[in-house]
Amino acid sequence: MMNVTKKSLVVLGALLVNVCLLKLNAQETQTEEPLNVILMIGDGMGIPQVSSAFYFGESTPNFERFEEIGLHKSYSTSHKITDSAAGATAFSTGQKTYKRAIGVSKDTIPQETILEKLKKDGYQTGLISLTSITHATPASFYAHVKDRDMHEEIAAQLVTADVDFLAGGGRKFLSNRSDGKNLFSTLLEHNYHLDTLKLGNSKAGMRNAFIIEDEGLPSKIEGRGDFLKEASLEALDYFGKAEKPFFLMIEGSYIDWGGHDMNPEMMIEEVADFDTTIGAVLDYVETHPNTLLVITADHETGGASIGKYYEVDEETGEKTEVPEKVAVYFTTDQHSGELIPVFAAGKGAENFKGIYQNSAIYHKILKAINAKNQQHEK
Ligand SMILES: [Zn+2]
Repeated sequence: MMNVTKKSLVVLGALLVNVCLLKLNAQETQTEEPLNVILMIGDGMGIPQVSSAFYFGESTPNFERFEEIGLHKSYSTSHKITDSAAGATAFSTGQKTYKRAIGVSKDTIPQETILEKLKKDGYQTGLISLTSITHATPASFYAHVKDRDMHEEIAAQLVTADVDFLAGGGRKFLSNRSDGKNLFSTLLEHNYHLDTLKLGNSKAGMRNAFIIEDEGLPSKIEGRGDFLKEASLEALDYFGKAEKPFFLMIEGSYIDWGGHDMNPEMMIEEVADFDTTIGAVLDYVETHPNTLLVITADHETGGASIGKYYEVDEETGEKTEVPEKVAVYFTTDQHSGELIPVFAAGKGAENFKGIYQNSAIYHKILKAINAKNQQHEK
């Protein structure tokens, strides 16, 4: 009798150990899914642009929700003052290149981008831009051409790149081409749900392309509405329907154009729109902790500064400072060479503190992904 009881206890004990192991395994698989990555690029967004959100917004900017903050060095191999092509290619390939280069090295050799690499690893991929989807920033994640103005060649590479979610402009580079080809039919052959008029109603189990303007979308002050935030949430919702990790790049494109136009209102409104989108994406990251969010810019545009606001007497021309107000001033209609802020949140965010090259952002993202993979192998 004694023996039987002892045996039963041993069996029961073994069962309990097994149950505990099962529980541990379940927890491990929960935390060890591959890391989702969201990279947000505010084109032309230096510290002055970020600062504008703190002076002109009605509430505390979402930028203030970040604790892991760094700075990157934006210059290209050919020019101290870079452009969006070399800037985005540094993020997408992990190496600096020459100004105007799209997804190629400084010797014009095509380089695998982070989007292409993660796609091979089983990731879903997405690109959102306010400009043409063939424009320098999004193009640097899927195309390989020696000059950013090769929009038709970039479009030809887009339709076979099989990016799962696309939202932006650029219809004319797909359908109104000098070679007479209609690349929308190629997209359809590649299992795309295609909408050339409006965003929304993504189809699960298919790729989705919302290419809704001939070139770029309108700016915020021209009445764009909430496209950037809505496209971002649409993409996150779509990715959530598949049991696969994702890589998503979101570009706030017109902060740069506000600087080129030396138009304070345009710059301020584009930064505010980007900040609103950041808020929605950061809310997502907080409820989906297996996600890394990195926000940065390719370069600053306009040599902007936040300075004293003056009222000018129309008759005498006399200037009087209004101490409770500020104004945005531009020193150029070109890009500038300032250090560029990097904000990170979620898993692996701590890697983004410090001052480093723009190309290091690629390596830091992969480091965060690999840290998770190593956990998985244990
Ligand atoms: Zn620019």
